[in-house]
Amino acid sequence: MADMPASAKTANGSTMYAKPDSNTMTTRIARAEDAMDAALKSLSYRLTETEDSRMDPTRPNGAAPAALNGTRNDNAPVPAPEVEVAPAPASIQRVPDAIATGRPSREEAEAAVRVLLRWAGDDPAREGLRDTPARVAKSYEQIFSGYRQDATILLERVFEEVEGYSDIVLVRDIPFYSHCEHHMVPFMGLAHIAYYPTKGVVGLSKLARVVDTFARRLQTQETMTAQIADVIETILKPRGIAVMVEAEHLCMAMRGVQKAGVSTITTQFRGAFKDDANEQVRFLTLVRNKP
Ligand SMILES: [Zn+2]
Repeated sequence: MADMPASAKTANGSTMYAKPDSNTMTTRIARAEDAMDAALKSLSYRLTETEDSRMDPTRPNGAAPAALNGTRNDNAPVPAPEVEVAPAPASIQRVPDAIATGRPSREEAEAAVRVLLRWAGDDPAREGLRDTPARVAKSYEQIFSGYRQDATILLERVFEEVEGYSDIVLVRDIPFYSHCEHHMVPFMGLAHIAYYPTKGVVGLSKLARVVDTFARRLQTQETMTAQIADVIETILKPRGIAVMVEAEHLCMAMRGVQKAGVSTITTQFRGAFKDDANEQVRFLTLVRNKP
């Protein structure tokens, strides 16, 4: 009885519905379920298509997925859906750019400062800050000028006339100002350099300029100490070299990690200073016993 028609045409063409018994009702429910299944299948297909198009706005020929048109047999070109694509993060775009062009423009640097001012919570357009981006960009050229200087060139000219002198040469209390590479906040202090010359000595101001060259970059105190020792070792080839840097880090003092005025000390000992503890004592004594 399951195939019994649920309705039949009357002689005048109108439809007469049979009173449903339990069997015809079962059939109709089954048909309704089939229809629902089909509808759900088609719906899930459309949802998938729509999500695809969101994730991939660059479909071939710019055509929208068929399901979005609603007319699946329509072959007419359909304009691509307008999908707002967020710009790539600045870091991805800017780094290759900066490498390609060597350096961002002054305008880009100033724009970046305006962004940081807004990030800090201030208004770059207010009177007091209007010229700040230009001033910051200009001051960066000075406080980070070390990137454009070569410390090896500074040491190439030695005083040959003192070639016979082979005892210790000590330059102490060389003031420097640098910026920590972790927070771009200043750290400053004094550098002390000693070496035993083998092929002449360099002018004392040259050592101060070597310190300056490395200080005017983003630094860690440890790296800077090693770089100073490295360049002197490479160019002057001394019998020994000692470098000591003592500095106060504002990034630590400002954030309360460390009290203001506390020094961090780093040292590098090479050659005679590394091999002989007495040489280290001599160096430290000379640095500490100020006349
Ligand atoms: Zn820091």
